[in-house]
Amino acid sequence: MIVHNLNKNNSILNHFVAQLRDVTLQRDSMRFRKNIYRIGEILAYEISKTLPFTPHAVATPLGIKETSKLDDGVVVCSVLRAGLALHEGLISFFDDAENGFISAFRHHPNNDDYFEIVMEYKAAPSLTGKTVIIADPMLATGMSLIAACDKLLENETPKEVHLAVVIAAPEGIAYLEEHLPDNFHLWIADVDSHLNEKKYIVPGLGDAGDLAYGVKL
Ligand code: URA
Repeated sequence: MIVHNLNKNNSILNHFVAQLRDVTLQRDSMRFRKNIYRIGEILAYEISKTLPFTPHAVATPLGIKETSKLDDGVVVCSVLRAGLALHEGLISFFDDAENGFISAFRHHPNNDDYFEIVMEYKAAPSLTGKTVIIADPMLATGMSLIAACDKLLENETPKEVHLAVVIAAPEGIAYLEEHLPDNFHLWIADVDSHLNEKKYIVPGLGDAGDLAYGVKL
């Protein structure tokens, strides 16, 4: 797996990630979603630098400009529900992309810290031969992203796969490295210290789904 850690240089990306983390600012769920959306746009821009383009002549009012055009065949898939705002940011740049969705939640069968990832819903187009971008804002253990990849990519042969993440824990990156092929790309806006006993990212930001869309039962 090829890891692209975008927090190495200071940019507006770091500013948006800092706002997501801020315990006061993050109470404004509209700003929280907006910042995830903007990070989705920045990830889309960075990913686009690695995608195939075709030479393209554009007629302007004053002449012809030889330029280039992004090839078709991008599919953005997101893990519900936390991935929704990231998804919207990604498709605001990849405006011709097809879309896929998959649900994932942590099921605690013994009412303790042990959990299993449950996936109940998948809606996706064919991914074979396409550039697939899978969005999930928080890479904690890596289990839900691997389960999402397995489910989305079963019986499919995509051209390339990019995983778009906002905050990653080192444990999650290591888990993905163990389970994914060398040619998958992982795009990360920031990397944190570790996971706590409940497998939340520290310092992280809390529960991204709850902060974006409200507390669930
Ligand atoms: N999901 C979240 O929303 N936050 C974490 O820290 C880990 C998983």
